[in-house]
Amino acid sequence: MSKLVMGYWDCPICGNKEIRGDITNCPSCGRARGDVQFYVKGYQGESLRKEEMNQFEQLNDQKAQEIGSNPDWYCSFCNSLNSDNAQTCGNCGATRADSEANYFDRLKKRQEQEAAELAAQGSTPAAKPKSRLLLIIAVIVAAIVGIVVWMNSNKTAGDLKVTALNWTRVIQIEANKQYSESDWSMPQGAELVETKQEISGYREVFDHYENVQVQRSRQVYDHDEYTLKDNGNGTFTQVAHPVYRTEYYTETEKRAVTRPEPIYNTKYYYTIWRWKPEREVTASGTDHNTAWPEYTLADNEREGTRTEDYRFTVEHTKKQSAPETYRLTESDWAKINVGDQIFITAKRSGANPFISDEKGNKLMDIQKVN
Ligand SMILES: [Zn+2]
Ligand SMILES: [Zn+2]
Repeated sequence: MSKLVMGYWDCPICGNKEIRGDITNCPSCGRARGDVQFYVKGYQGESLRKEEMNQFEQLNDQKAQEIGSNPDWYCSFCNSLNSDNAQTCGNCGATRADSEANYFDRLKKRQEQEAAELAAQGSTPAAKPKSRLLLIIAVIVAAIVGIVVWMNSNKTAGDLKVTALNWTRVIQIEANKQYSESDWSMPQGAELVETKQEISGYREVFDHYENVQVQRSRQVYDHDEYTLKDNGNGTFTQVAHPVYRTEYYTETEKRAVTRPEPIYNTKYYYTIWRWKPEREVTASGTDHNTAWPEYTLADNEREGTRTEDYRFTVEHTKKQSAPETYRLTESDWAKINVGDQIFITAKRSGANPFISDEKGNKLMDIQKVN
């Protein structure tokens, strides 16, 4: 059976449709066909099975040999296309050797010309919705930027009155005591009580082999499918492509099985004297008379770390809202008194507050207490 399939073409001059590929002049207007686009009726470029190929007109061997599968050649002198079998132009008689282009060269040239004309027309129809989408994105971005800028802009609250001051000073007291501990090594100053062999961890060791079933897959040849290739002379060639399917099979595999084996090490049980936080002494007040707390140490005690905290509370005089408490350094706190009218400037989001003058210029750093 021939591998050639009949192609068809439409006359670009008179519009006559579905003219057989073995006809070189339009039966309606008589013009020689030029660089027309050949096609096969009902074929869209898909892969088809052998039996599905039978819906197309197959050329018999004699006809296939007559036409061949090589593209028509293009006569440079009279612009007509001629069969590969012809050595002289059927229209003007020029020899083939004097012309170089074939059907595909002509088609490519025409398509490039059409693309260039389309580009010259300027904006494509797709450009309009695209620019509208860009505009919407630009508006959204501008809105987000606007909100962020606004949230970051400062706002000064001018109706604040200091209603309370608070200070707290804490001293931690440490005690030296004997502790019973255990570890894989003895720290400095420890007194050994006893040692024991104990499990410090596990390692995986080989135990036995076992057979496991493993599913695998491979690609095996199933059948051929065909596509049609434009020969550029009114015929198409059937091109075979192998199609594979996935085949699954199981294989037995030998696999090592391990088990956890304990690792034994020497563990030291010992007593050790350590300084650890034992208690706190606190002093606090609501005035400026700060002092560190008084304390007496037991024989095994010493002073540990000191911490201090200074705060004030303000209330809004115009706005109905909860009192706010702020922490600050002792030197700044010492300048604030109950009854003071102050200004606090912060981002609109409430971040980074500070005490300011009424124009929002910073005077003291403060930290909001939740
Ligand atoms: Zn025609
Ligand atoms: Zn010619």
